[in-house]
Amino acid sequence: MRKKIVAGNWKMNLDKEQAQILASEVVNMAKDELPTDVTLIMCPPSIHLSSVNGLVAPANNVFVGGQNCSDKASGAFTGEISAPMLQSYGIEYVILGHSERREYFKETHQELAAKVDISLENNLKPIFCCGEVLEEREAGKQDEVVKKQLDESLFHLTAEQFANVVIAYEPVWAIGTGKVATSEQAQAMHKAIRKMIAEKYGEEVAQSTSILYGGSCKPGNAKELFACEDVDGGLIGGASLKSRDFIDIAKAY
Ligand code: 13P
Repeated sequence: MRKKIVAGNWKMNLDKEQAQILASEVVNMAKDELPTDVTLIMCPPSIHLSSVNGLVAPANNVFVGGQNCSDKASGAFTGEISAPMLQSYGIEYVILGHSERREYFKETHQELAAKVDISLENNLKPIFCCGEVLEEREAGKQDEVVKKQLDESLFHLTAEQFANVVIAYEPVWAIGTGKVATSEQAQAMHKAIRKMIAEKYGEEVAQSTSILYGGSCKPGNAKELFACEDVDGGLIGGASLKSRDFIDIAKAY
């Protein structure tokens, strides 16, 4: 059985009070309304990680994740946050390779491979993002693009290490655009990703890897997306900033 995961990527939103209100609401609603076999993850900006993590204890299926970490353990890297720091705050997950990091911060495949390694060394589970931009989809190159992203940043791992990785397929053209992938497009890519994993690590590992869909996922379309055989949950941006919407998406399972 694959883990069902709904993760919220808050991106660079919310002040201290807003973050605490949202996290408390999510925890309370999760306790009252969510089946325990759905894992919820909130990924706030790093400055809120500690306070949000302090609020999740009452619900045992709610976890906290970072949105990024450095590829170095420590040192003179002003403004950066390291995997050992996240671990020291009891953080369980970290988003890596989000398309916004790839685009605006020029993160490379090699750098991401190093971030994956240091995360795993520090017992953080990477939520590794992959996905094509619009021109690549229009050229029919989406499988090739995603394969390269996985090959260059993840497939150096051993099967044992890979077991701790969550994949998030986020077509870049669907992020924040309101233009969601159809369930056929999502299923086709998720199935292709699972095949890539099977070819590298075998069928058993592939069948136990959670592959999340991200990109304009909302309460109104989550049910259809999550009904796809190879879609194991979602990585939610905008809609994760509203507790009701985030929980309704998770309840769409
Ligand atoms: P939206 O849900 O706002 O499209 O964002 C998706 C995303 O980038 C999650 O990481």
